[in-house]
Amino acid sequence: MPTYQIHALKYGGPVSSSGAFLMWQRDWDKTAQRNYYLWCLTGGPRPVVVDTGLSPAQAAARGVPDYDHPAEMLTRLGIQADQVELVILTHLHFDHAGGVGLFPEARFFVQRSEYDFWTKNPMAGRPVFQFFLDQATREALVGLEAAGRLVFLEGDAEVAPGVECLLAPGHSPGLQAVAIETERGRAVLGSDSGHVFENFSQDWPSSLVVDQVALLRTYDKLRDRAASLDLLFPGHDRRLAEDYPSVAKGVTRLV
Ligand SMILES: [Zn+2]
Repeated sequence: MPTYQIHALKYGGPVSSSGAFLMWQRDWDKTAQRNYYLWCLTGGPRPVVVDTGLSPAQAAARGVPDYDHPAEMLTRLGIQADQVELVILTHLHFDHAGGVGLFPEARFFVQRSEYDFWTKNPMAGRPVFQFFLDQATREALVGLEAAGRLVFLEGDAEVAPGVECLLAPGHSPGLQAVAIETERGRAVLGSDSGHVFENFSQDWPSSLVVDQVALLRTYDKLRDRAASLDLLFPGHDRRLAEDYPSVAKGVTRLV
């Protein structure tokens, strides 16, 4: 069984908001900051990319500050985005799936329930959901399905030796976390199940939740699967970019 190194690639941010964005119904009067990331796993038979970041045009349209091109960032790890074969999409919000076009040779692993919600369920067209996925990305995803480049998972599944996708709903209908074997034991990229570490450690979600009960069950599952709580990583915490060894511009090694 290979062990992996986990890299966080900060492709945007920091962005400021009320603290209540990151801690549901708390800290309204505080200001909190968050970053945008994708992740890359090295040390296995081939690199695995987790989420895609955004294209330059999308980043401009969304007003993402301090944007860095994800494909350029991967070259700092010696990886060419146009040669990556395996990408895991944790969920289909724009900041995680908007960059699928940057990976022309990849197959994308996604939960069936997540894909069906965003592409087939009329509920996804309601106003509160429209912010999360733009029409261009939705069409790109449908095109990938037609091309046979989406791999649909229905629950937990190993997608590479030592890399297991874990169904983890709550932030979105079919979010998947990623459990990864490392030299420190099993780590879990929780993606936006938690925006910051405190969501997991204090058992208190962020404000972006579609199913609070499911999310709390997800917290039980992810804390149980990670070898220790400090190996359960959230999706947008500034500390991912600040508290870990820097290996290149914008790139830190979490494990
Ligand atoms: Zn996100």
